[in-house]
Amino acid sequence: MSDWIHPEWQAPAGVVSLCSTRGSDGRANSLNFALPENRRKLREGMPGAPVWLHQVHSNRVIRVDTDTLPETREADACYCDIRQRVVAILVADCLPILLCSKEGKAIAAIHAGWRGLASGIIGRTLQLARPGEWSAWLGPAIGPCHYEVSDDVQNQFPQSHGFTPAAKPGKWYMDLYAIAAQQLQTAGVHDIHGGSYCTFCDQRCDQDGDQDGNQDGDQKRFFSHRRDGETGRMAAFIWMT
Ligand SMILES: [Zn+2]
Repeated sequence: MSDWIHPEWQAPAGVVSLCSTRGSDGRANSLNFALPENRRKLREGMPGAPVWLHQVHSNRVIRVDTDTLPETREADACYCDIRQRVVAILVADCLPILLCSKEGKAIAAIHAGWRGLASGIIGRTLQLARPGEWSAWLGPAIGPCHYEVSDDVQNQFPQSHGFTPAAKPGKWYMDLYAIAAQQLQTAGVHDIHGGSYCTFCDQRCDQDGDQDGNQDGDQKRFFSHRRDGETGRMAAFIWMT
């Protein structure tokens, strides 16, 4: 699991969180969780098969509070207050957000791209949340160093917080982390961790993964749709034991 991120966020005992990367074998794709065969291999380290959403850049949240899963999984966030149920979010530049109640009684995972953030998916998820304090972890997303967007994206947000004008007219650098953090705080979540990655430019720190001598690439730490076009997907997981 050395290729995986173990979130540092002081989650309570009994809450387990994990986030995959592109993996040191890079193009071999063994950690591309868009692929069903890789999803099937996961079950060994987990209490059961994860709940995978059919992510559509919406603000729809599903709630898992019984052993029976909701019929429709077309959603971009999942709130779960039963144990042993793994919730998963797929990303390759969009922001994965993991949440847990500080009492360790409920969890949630959010797929937050600009559309989800603009349509309030963070607030909608936390509306379902049990009372009490919550912690959040912001996983690997495209950073403000590389996420250039147009006016039409910036115009979807009521404030300019999280946008820095780019050199080209009508363009902005968007900071998904800053916008998510502000929305989390508005929803009452102040214990926020993570948020220091850029899927586009982050290189893995250990250099020994690139043994095939190919410059293109096994130094890339994350899948990035903006950088590579068609690419794999990383997954963030959370569950309660
Ligand atoms: Zn970057």
